[in-house]
Amino acid sequence: MKEDIDNSVLKVLSSGGYILGPEVESFEHEMAEYLGSKHAIGVASGTDAIFLILKALDVCPSDEVITTPFTFIATADTISNCGAKPVFADINPNTYNIDPNEVEKCFSSRTKAVIAVHLYGQPAEMDSLKALTDSHGVPLVEDCAQSLGAEFKGRKAGSIGTASALSFFPTKNLGGAGDGGMVCTNDARLADRIRMLRVHGSHKKYHHSMIGINSRLDAIQAALLKVKLNYLDTWNGQRIETANYYNRNLKNIGTPYVMPSVSHVYHQYTIRIKQRDQLQELLGEAGIGTSVYYKPPLHLQDCYRDLGHKRGDFPVSEKASTEVLSLPMFPGITQEEKETVCDAVNNFSG
Ligand SMILES: *Cc1c(COP(=O)(O)O)cnc(C)c1O
Repeated sequence: MKEDIDNSVLKVLSSGGYILGPEVESFEHEMAEYLGSKHAIGVASGTDAIFLILKALDVCPSDEVITTPFTFIATADTISNCGAKPVFADINPNTYNIDPNEVEKCFSSRTKAVIAVHLYGQPAEMDSLKALTDSHGVPLVEDCAQSLGAEFKGRKAGSIGTASALSFFPTKNLGGAGDGGMVCTNDARLADRIRMLRVHGSHKKYHHSMIGINSRLDAIQAALLKVKLNYLDTWNGQRIETANYYNRNLKNIGTPYVMPSVSHVYHQYTIRIKQRDQLQELLGEAGIGTSVYYKPPLHLQDCYRDLGHKRGDFPVSEKASTEVLSLPMFPGITQEEKETVCDAVNNFSG
């Protein structure tokens, strides 16, 4: 890609226009088309994408937003930054995604939205979640930071809910050379509001109709991401191939469960084992990098002390956080590397 990326980045540098502008617009069009979504709005990060969706939905201090405690902090701290309260619903132990039965118990008269996360690259149970949010008349927001390219019943994750947040953090399936994010939605009014909110609530220069923030995608990131978008499906295919290899070759260990109605894009390949910490240490000694996503779960984080949760409140998430381990997963991983990983894990798990 080097030549294409160099050329498109240099073109931006010599254009003199560095924020938003034609490169960002053309990338927004391509992403909207890729997802099958009517509108795409480039913003500064995935975190801002979630925050701006919630702001545009008018999430306010007296409101509650239901989400999973088993996710990256950005899914919930954006709710808190609107002044609203995150209300956690436990996950399904097989998919690690929010459990619709638990979500159902969390609705109150204050519920303003539900945020589903497609964790590790596998879509959440969108049919049940959509039915629930529709019946309560609240929007369903998709956190697609890990799931770009994944599908639920033939539709792209990120095109099913009211609005979706994408992240172009460098390690995501489509990663920039810095921070970047995007909101996708079919709702024209919501799209308009987010376009304003990302530029200080302005509809016309120096005329501000809403209180907004500064959260815009850089032209250099858009130019680079446009080149990389052409490779996304190929890279996701390589991730799936690697996952299939791991599935076939790992023994005596919990490999990922994939729902029959979805395609999983393996942002992470996450195994499950009781002696997780020992396995992680052993792999580390063998020079194999692994990570735990996520520990502790959000309801036990110091920043959420005030919510008054205690250990035992979300047992499925708590148990998962002691047992999950994400193995090396990236496009371009070599056959030898995959074998090394499987041999090391199998030596441990017997
Ligand atoms: C990465 C990530 C985000 C935040 O994206 P940034 O671009 O890093 O702000 C939000 N939610 C989840 C689940 C993520 O993995």
